[in-house]
Amino acid sequence: MTSEFEGGVTPSSILLVDDDPANLLALEAVLEPLGQRIMKARSGEGALRLLLEHDFAVILLDLRMPGMDGLETAAAIKQRAKSRHTPIIFLTAETSLRLKSYEYGAVDYVVKPYEPAIVRSKVSVFVELYERGQRILQQEARLRQKEIEALQLQTRESRRVDQEQQRLWLETILDLMPTPLLFVHAETGRVHFANRASHELVGGKLPAPPEIAYDGTPHELTWQTNDGMRTFVATGAEIPQGYGHEAMRIVSLVDVTRLKQVEAELQNAVRIRDDFLSIASHELHTPLTPLKLQIERLQRREQTPTQLQEKLAVVGRQVDRLSNLVRQLLDVSRITGGRLRLTPEEVDLTAVVRDTADALSSESRQSGSVIDIRGEDSVVGHWDPTRIEQITSNLLSNAIKYGQGKPILVQVSHDNGNARLSVHDQGIGIAPEQQARIFDRFERAVSVRHYGGFGLGLWIVRQIVEASGGQVTVESQVGHGSTFTVELPR
Ligand code: ADP
Repeated sequence: MTSEFEGGVTPSSILLVDDDPANLLALEAVLEPLGQRIMKARSGEGALRLLLEHDFAVILLDLRMPGMDGLETAAAIKQRAKSRHTPIIFLTAETSLRLKSYEYGAVDYVVKPYEPAIVRSKVSVFVELYERGQRILQQEARLRQKEIEALQLQTRESRRVDQEQQRLWLETILDLMPTPLLFVHAETGRVHFANRASHELVGGKLPAPPEIAYDGTPHELTWQTNDGMRTFVATGAEIPQGYGHEAMRIVSLVDVTRLKQVEAELQNAVRIRDDFLSIASHELHTPLTPLKLQIERLQRREQTPTQLQEKLAVVGRQVDRLSNLVRQLLDVSRITGGRLRLTPEEVDLTAVVRDTADALSSESRQSGSVIDIRGEDSVVGHWDPTRIEQITSNLLSNAIKYGQGKPILVQVSHDNGNARLSVHDQGIGIAPEQQARIFDRFERAVSVRHYGGFGLGLWIVRQIVEASGGQVTVESQVGHGSTFTVELPR
């Protein structure tokens, strides 16, 4: 189809075929008022050539031409599919050929010499027919185009609806997943979609994409979340462009905060256990050397009663030390196994403190610390006497051990329903950051090289005090001493 002019059709073409140029010119002049494009050929072959490239509304064909005559040309025109339906008007001087011309596909004929108005009128009928045909074809083409466009629009719309539904379906699934997932736009780096778990993580806000490589390697990162800083293992992957989607990156986040904590706790527990084992072997071994020595001496020579007493006193002290250590170990397994049973009876706390100070008199003498007991003469309550003795003994031993030979002040008092025991020394003191820790199992704030001990005394004190419904606290300043206070309901 020829190109379309705005609001109309292209002027149709008329082909004039005549071997005589004068005839061609005359005919052109006759048809010019029709305002159509006129093409001319001076032979049948020339006409066929033009027909290869052009469409014509009508062909005016001279019958008598040298070479290929009009009838042969008409036959050739009718043979070609492209020009089969192009109307041919024969020009002839011989009326005898009239009938023959119809056989060769003519739609009309004009007898020379012709009347110009008649020729013009005949030609204009075919031009109009042609143009009408063209208009119908164009309308059809326009209709078809519109149909195609409507169909395309419909297809696009239904595809959009399909995609939207797919997206909603996918988002619903991703929102149900407990793992935080982020879809990051590959080009802009902005978060394209974050599932509900991710939103919950950052309090409904859009999370920032983490800076990781999107190659499937797990990355550990800390993130500010609703729950404070948390540790995650983030894994990223590239999703190439496809299925109507741009290139994306997906990040999945696994919260390992608790795992990390447990890992650190476990490592710490292992470290504490290892430290304890080395301290325990050292502590249990230490009394054995003087013990062995005294026993050897006792075996070797005759002893005077005084010498005997002295040596037995050393043996006795070391045995006490050993049994105290073993008792602590037994207490650990008893307490952690939930078998700390208290048998309360009437106990005088002041009396227990005095007895303990007496029992520790040789240690305090050795260290140089004088124990001064003040307060109420008697503070009676309902407690387990053995355990109360353990509390006073542990606190007083510590005051002697860490008291640097300076005086120790023990105060026993009561107010309302509570008894209070405070043990104050003027020794090495405890740094603020250590003060909470020392009540934990095996925790120590001093080096084993300087001070022996299992790191169990204060833990045992706290366990007993808390099991009795009371509390134990410490106030201390490094270099200025410590005050341990126990409060017990009576
Ligand atoms: P230990 O057997 O090590 O003395 P404890 O549980 O009795 O175990 O004490 C824990 C830690 O608390 C000690 O290692 C020490 O660092 C600190 N501590 C306890 N009592 C005192 C005190 N009176 N003055 C200074 N430090 C103390």
